[in-house]
Amino acid sequence: MGKVYFASARAKKWKYEDSMPGKLERLLKETGLMNYFSPDEWVAVKTHFGSEGAHRIVRPVFLRKVVEALKRIGAKPFITDTVRIRGLDYLEVANQNGINHLSVGAPVVLADGLYGNDNIMVKAGDILGQIAVASLIHDVPAMVVCSHVKGHINAGYAGAIKNLAMGGISSSHRTCGWKCGRGAMHTIGEGELVWDSDKCELCLQCQDVCPLDAITFKDDEIVWNRDICWRCGRCERVCQNESLTLPGDDERFMASLAEAAKAVIGTFEPQKILYINFLTEIQPECDCMPAADVPVMQDIGILLSDDLVSIEAAGIDMLAASAPLPGSLAQDKDIGEGKDILMELHQRPYRLQIEVAERLGLGTAKYEIVAV
Ligand code: SF4
Ligand code: SF4
Repeated sequence: MGKVYFASARAKKWKYEDSMPGKLERLLKETGLMNYFSPDEWVAVKTHFGSEGAHRIVRPVFLRKVVEALKRIGAKPFITDTVRIRGLDYLEVANQNGINHLSVGAPVVLADGLYGNDNIMVKAGDILGQIAVASLIHDVPAMVVCSHVKGHINAGYAGAIKNLAMGGISSSHRTCGWKCGRGAMHTIGEGELVWDSDKCELCLQCQDVCPLDAITFKDDEIVWNRDICWRCGRCERVCQNESLTLPGDDERFMASLAEAAKAVIGTFEPQKILYINFLTEIQPECDCMPAADVPVMQDIGILLSDDLVSIEAAGIDMLAASAPLPGSLAQDKDIGEGKDILMELHQRPYRLQIEVAERLGLGTAKYEIVAV
């Protein structure tokens, strides 16, 4: 049974110890970081930098608490993420969202280089074959995975598995391109983007959101540059008319997330990764979107575990038991009390992520909550 430490988001006393940063400090102490990390050891603190408009990321104050705890035991932490848009722009996004050396107390670096193609091929599994793991994540001996838990239009639920899978893998590989990167999870076959002109209202959101300028419009017709496209799916996700589609398969997608997470974890020795899931500002969509909607449920708290599957299972159960917030997308969609909000919003079989991860030996879905 996996042990999952939990700190509630509620602050019932006006004391620092009852604040979320204060509780995170306690969680990190309870865990005994010395059992995982050594003095002088480099430790990646893997998070998602967000996007220019998606500000509901893991807040810099929490990253700083993790950095401080690691420094207290003599470890050498740095903050990292893989390239989602052009590398220099992504570092600027991190800075705008408050993640920089000054705020978090450690260097902020890209895990797969400024061009996002600094990676190493690693065996993943039956679906993906081999996949391009960001070289920094591949090489570093230890990692703390800090994940902002939220919904996701394709994954339904996005937590630590997705942070490892999409976040530990590059968009593209030098020789085999998107087929060895995240695109291999997002789509199937040749990943042919399909445009339905009848549904398109020429809003140009797809063009604006593309990190590679792979979409333009000429004479009211889409022009897609398939040779440079990463198959990241951002254009499909922002299209509110379902006029753009990348071919995909939900069950394959969930399983491939677990496979990619396994490829990343396989580059570490056992007991060298800790997971911290932030069940806060639980918005309906991913942190890579151009905006962050209001949360669909109330903040729950912070989970910490060394078992990937246990922390995900515990978090998912907590989310599924949460009530919808008024004034959110959950209310727009008439989701009532007692419903699994993320399932109702996205209709994706997201529990498959943890089922496959458990089958692949990444942990156990049986967990014990230890409240601090
Ligand atoms: S999938 Fe869409 S947004 Fe992503 S690179 Fe290709 S065209 Fe651009
Ligand atoms: S986002 Fe959708 S509706 Fe808007 S221009 Fe692109 S394809 Fe057309």
